[in-house]
Amino acid sequence: MQVRITVSFPFEAPVSQSLFERASVVTPGGVNSPVRAFRAVGGTPRFMVSGTGPYLTDADGREYVDLVCSWGPMILGHAHPEVIAAVQEAVARGTSFGTPGAGEVELAEEIVARIEPVEQVRLVSSGTEATMSAIRLARGFTGRPKVVKFAGCYHGHVDALLAAAGSGVATFGLPDTPGVTGAQAGDTIVLPYNDLEAVRAAFAAHPGEIACVITEASPGNMGVVPPLPGFNQGLKDLCAANGALYISDEVMTGFRVSKSGWYGIDGVRPDLMTFGKVMGGGFPAAAFGGRADVMAQLAPAGPVYQAGTLSGNPIATAAGVAQLRLLDDAAYQTVDAVSAELRGLVTAALAKEGVAHRLQVAGNMFSVFFSGAEVTNYDQAKAQESFRFTAFFHSMLAQGVYLPPSAFESWFVSTAHDAQAVERIAAALPAAARAAAEATE
Ligand code: PLP
Repeated sequence: MQVRITVSFPFEAPVSQSLFERASVVTPGGVNSPVRAFRAVGGTPRFMVSGTGPYLTDADGREYVDLVCSWGPMILGHAHPEVIAAVQEAVARGTSFGTPGAGEVELAEEIVARIEPVEQVRLVSSGTEATMSAIRLARGFTGRPKVVKFAGCYHGHVDALLAAAGSGVATFGLPDTPGVTGAQAGDTIVLPYNDLEAVRAAFAAHPGEIACVITEASPGNMGVVPPLPGFNQGLKDLCAANGALYISDEVMTGFRVSKSGWYGIDGVRPDLMTFGKVMGGGFPAAAFGGRADVMAQLAPAGPVYQAGTLSGNPIATAAGVAQLRLLDDAAYQTVDAVSAELRGLVTAALAKEGVAHRLQVAGNMFSVFFSGAEVTNYDQAKAQESFRFTAFFHSMLAQGVYLPPSAFESWFVSTAHDAQAVERIAAALPAAARAAAEATE
């Protein structure tokens, strides 16, 4: 029997509860992005009204140390004064022109300067748009139909990329959601993560048909599951040998795990890359870019169509430029140090209670698997005891620490997570670890 700790304090957030009830009338499931609904952990999602530094305040006036950071973007903490000032200055000049603007050039130059394989970049408004467009471009450039992706990697809600079913070698993707047709998913080949043999077999089975392999540079959407040594290089080499493009999705890792994202850590040179989250400074801005000869195929330079009314929006680009310019080496050292300290505290608390767990790390991103063994693919990730996470999550929440409401998400910290914030997390951990130890299925 599963212990649903949530039912012990269903009324602790009455204003959030009432907002959720209103939201559920006018919005499917009460939320605008599914994981926000707390379905994986149960209970009432907290409606946040403000954020400052490492803290969020909910509609009931409760403050939390935030370990979600808007799912990655808020790497300088909430309401960073210099980002807010840049936004205010931009807003005062108008909110959207539908013409080119200097902010777009500055943001593109910032990205190209930081990430050497990106010779040209196109700005869009979400990570989903970035991966969707990168795949269209890869198909247009190669004239081939098929896309290889890995089970457990999330690339946004692009129809062709929602096929994640099947862990067999060279399995044709089956749509994971109603609304995605067999035709849309039929050109997607879903393979087990960290399995180069499966990729080799897929290329052998479909000669001349695979346009690209897309992978999270270091996956954070099945929990943190870094590539095994040589995996990304192996993908790159197999793509090069077979005339396919290697697309590294850095929507989550880009500008977060280093100045030049995961590329700055493993140095494997992709043909195309996708970005989002941190580069928008908390606004809807994303991008895809890479080899100039590939990018030259995009309209209006080339025949592959791609466009957006709000692409390169002046407020979003102002926020992105301000945030990226503040992200120097010292900032990444700070985030890395906070992450390392927290990991140590979490492991110590869980070990003290005898909870089998595995802390997995990619730069400053990390997550806890309630599992005794290393997790290298999606099947292993799913095998963890996620009921323990539910108990852990609710104990932390009750003590004022906001974790991602799912055992399959990365935790995120920021430069604003100072000693006081870390102390508050440390104080909450012993009871949460005990709750995890005592939880039963
Ligand atoms: N790619 C990766 C690796 C992501 O983590 C996400 C979102 O979490 C996306 C793409 C989609 O980005 P967005 O939610 O901005 O559409």
